[in-house]
Amino acid sequence: MVKEIARFSPKITTLADGTDALLHMTDLIGEEPGPMVGISASVHGNENCGSQAILDLYRILKDMKIKGTIRLLPVVNAGAMVVNSRFNPIDQRDLNREFPGDPNGTFSQQLAAAVTKDFLGVIDAHIDLHSGTDRPTVDYVYFLNDEKLSRAFGSKLLYRPDDGKQGTKFGGTTKDVTMPRGIPAAVIELGGGVVDQGPYIERIIKGVLNMLRQLGAIEGEVEAAPSQVVVNEIAGIRPTKGGWVEPLSPPLGGEMKKGDPLFRVVSPYTFEVLEEAVCPFDRGIMIMGHLTRNIVEAGDYGWMVGNMEGATS
Ligand SMILES: [Zn+2]
Repeated sequence: MVKEIARFSPKITTLADGTDALLHMTDLIGEEPGPMVGISASVHGNENCGSQAILDLYRILKDMKIKGTIRLLPVVNAGAMVVNSRFNPIDQRDLNREFPGDPNGTFSQQLAAAVTKDFLGVIDAHIDLHSGTDRPTVDYVYFLNDEKLSRAFGSKLLYRPDDGKQGTKFGGTTKDVTMPRGIPAAVIELGGGVVDQGPYIERIIKGVLNMLRQLGAIEGEVEAAPSQVVVNEIAGIRPTKGGWVEPLSPPLGGEMKKGDPLFRVVSPYTFEVLEEAVCPFDRGIMIMGHLTRNIVEAGDYGWMVGNMEGATS
């Protein structure tokens, strides 16, 4: 049993309908001293696997012996989650490009500032749960500043981004707060797609519990990771035309040769093949893809392929 469960909901701002926009957090406070580990999900509102996993983790963790405090922020971007959108509907911004935020800015910038003040700016370690959406499915973990922590999640595939490139391409993510603070941080990408999310949510729960062991927040031996592949380069391949996208790639984690098919886009109206995409690397590994035939627009998230050249274990 935890010593105390404390809920608090700081106000972000006032909405036009007169209600308060709140950030809902729950602290599971242990009997013994230890780190404050923050677990967050749904920074992107259309990636709710992590929010579901945090609900289940809450039910498990509240009856466990905890060292320190586990601060749960199950839904970072509530307004985006309820409309199943990556972007917040008030300002159409991507919250995960706005950190550390601005208390005098747009809604997403104010939300980012509130998350920085009461969550990212005070925790001692951060686990951020992302997933695919209701279209593509994804399965990998980022290396940020604590490789042991990232490995403890137990995914087969990990990604060590080239920092310069990553910084330019994806500024304003939660790591823009956690990395300068020097706290261990990991970003998980698991789940999504038009398939049963149950197995992915189970894996998130198992992986996060192992990370909590690694951080010393709960008792027990850290489970050894399976054999892992660390890629340094990922190619994002998006459909450039809209229509039915039909997957032709191996399952996630599967390997391919250069030129092996990834997907084709077919017109729902004329049945013509509009586009075919292939593996860009001599040896590629599947990180993200659509698992079923789905409707896509030009430029939608499609496939991600890791480069096995230069990959390490
Ligand atoms: Zn995301």
